[in-house]
Amino acid sequence: MIRAKIVLPFLLVTCMSAQQGWWMTEASRWVQTNLRQTDASLDSKHLVGQLADMRANVLLFGMGGIAAYYPTRVPFHYPSPDLPPGRDMFGDVLHESHQRSIRVVGRFDFSKTRREVYDAHPEWFFRKANGDPVIYNGLYSTCINGGYYRDQALKILTEALENYDVDGLFFNMFGNQSRDYSGHEVGLCHCDNCRRRYAAMFHKPIPDQPDDDYRRFMFVSSREVAASIGDVIHLKRPKAGYFNYIQESTDGIMSESNTAIDRPLPMWPYSASDNVNRARNSEPGKMAVNLNMQFVDYSWRFATVPGPEIALRMWQNLANGGALTFEVNGTLDLQDRQALETARPIFRWAAANQQYYAGEQSAARVLLLGTPSASGRAFAQNSYRGLFRLLSQEHIPFAVSDNMNWLGKREFDLVIASDWAPAELKQYAEKGGHVLIASAREPELQLGHVISQSKDVKGYFRVRNHAMFPSLKDTDLLLLDGPYTEVEGDGSQSLSLVPPSMIGPPEFIHIDMQNTNKPGIVYKELGRGQVAWLPWDLGGLYYRVSLPAHAALFHDVVERLYPRRQIITNAHPLVEMSWMQQANRRLLHLINLSGHSQTGYFAPLKMNAMRIEVEGRFKSARTVREPRQLAVQSHDGYTVLTVPELSDYELVVLE
Ligand SMILES: [Zn+2]
Repeated sequence: MIRAKIVLPFLLVTCMSAQQGWWMTEASRWVQTNLRQTDASLDSKHLVGQLADMRANVLLFGMGGIAAYYPTRVPFHYPSPDLPPGRDMFGDVLHESHQRSIRVVGRFDFSKTRREVYDAHPEWFFRKANGDPVIYNGLYSTCINGGYYRDQALKILTEALENYDVDGLFFNMFGNQSRDYSGHEVGLCHCDNCRRRYAAMFHKPIPDQPDDDYRRFMFVSSREVAASIGDVIHLKRPKAGYFNYIQESTDGIMSESNTAIDRPLPMWPYSASDNVNRARNSEPGKMAVNLNMQFVDYSWRFATVPGPEIALRMWQNLANGGALTFEVNGTLDLQDRQALETARPIFRWAAANQQYYAGEQSAARVLLLGTPSASGRAFAQNSYRGLFRLLSQEHIPFAVSDNMNWLGKREFDLVIASDWAPAELKQYAEKGGHVLIASAREPELQLGHVISQSKDVKGYFRVRNHAMFPSLKDTDLLLLDGPYTEVEGDGSQSLSLVPPSMIGPPEFIHIDMQNTNKPGIVYKELGRGQVAWLPWDLGGLYYRVSLPAHAALFHDVVERLYPRRQIITNAHPLVEMSWMQQANRRLLHLINLSGHSQTGYFAPLKMNAMRIEVEGRFKSARTVREPRQLAVQSHDGYTVLTVPELSDYELVVLE
């Protein structure tokens, strides 16, 4: 009898984590080709030639799962019906790619499989509340808590990793999806495994709609599977990276900048910056690979979004320390070539200048908190996005983190909470930190007695002290629409609530308007630090209506908490800046967002003569996209320079 070798996966994994993988040390330029099973006979030399021509150095490429692109012998795993007999297409592409110094990351999708598997192992599959399986184009959805994900997938991956010297693996649709590709709701899985595990965790049945407990359940379930898959990869191919849409157990955090035709407006032109900033600063030891999806929506996978949108995402990926990416469906022989023609010159440019894109880390000293997915908490997206946009428009470099692991590891001068203000902020403030909370949700740190909470107030705040808010010199009233929390304190010396009053007919407008002393902002000293709490949704309001009065208030509150910024500039608000560091230099990235309007993306308008002061004394500054040496002056601890012009993107290197 042959016994499996005795292995110590834990030890191996621990040793591996001490050295950095290629995804952290190299500037990587990823092309993903989402293969169809009919592409199984593709010409490997042709494809790899196209990649080399555009100077891509990582190919993310269909390997197995729903269809394998190599001969497989593992039960319940099937080669594409279009894989020619005797052909090992994946092996050919891997060989060709490695010959040309292109790394290959294999893509697997275990979320669905064939009817034969369902017939043999119905207990591995997703069950709707009525017990029916979820079937899409003849494929059956598996369940993250069933044997396909938890056991069979590991056998499939073991074969793949033993036979192919891949540089990494990536997993699509990891975990149970509650809607199918056509947008139909399928609800939550009610299979026996889910029911048993959920009852053990929460002592109640699975709910109809996902709530915080259910999100926590799915989080735990998917992380268990993610960890076992990570162990197999690191054991079988210690130099290969593990890439997934989740942060735990992985080496790289995947995300997508994508569109959908029915998605609520406005569009989010900061999508790639948001995804990459958040991933790199939540887990600074991992790479962010934000996939740049070329297609408009699932129903039109061959129709391409505007080229300038593809380009904007590319610059944002680079500017925040992520991989450069481009994604297509099928092969690179496309029926709409606009996106590819946009991507190719940017890939080539990034290859020629790759020294600036390896080993970048954020140098920002302001932190915007996201929401930890482990909490199961619903994410207040609009509130977060409003503050994200305010910070960008103010040219304040900032990092985004979804967790609290920065505490004690990285220093920040100011931490901003858009929704949830965790108790850990108290410890940070007491040691001298500054905190801004913009949320009607009561913070977990004690900032004053809460008197009442209102869900929807259509009123105002009155500026009672213009000396405190110099940017509001022409404004006495700020719009309030939404939740407001009345907290102990006196707003008569700062900003105070004006409750709703009559709005019509015009003869009656606000003639009954009342002032109160209910505060629109409270300040509290905590130890050596200071906290400002706006007990209403400033971020959500700015996201929706973009009022300059809200932006002015934000500016003045930040100015008081954090007077010595890293960047002072006369740049237009639609110039996005990131402040990054490499071992021996600082990098200031400038991205021109002026080409975005409504649902359109156009070439950005050229901007000229941008004066910029950056913290620190640097001897030299030069621009890279438009190569120029810039004159520098020192002034009060800042280096002053002028960028003569900005077209789409510029990189200023300071040494
Ligand atoms: Zn299930």
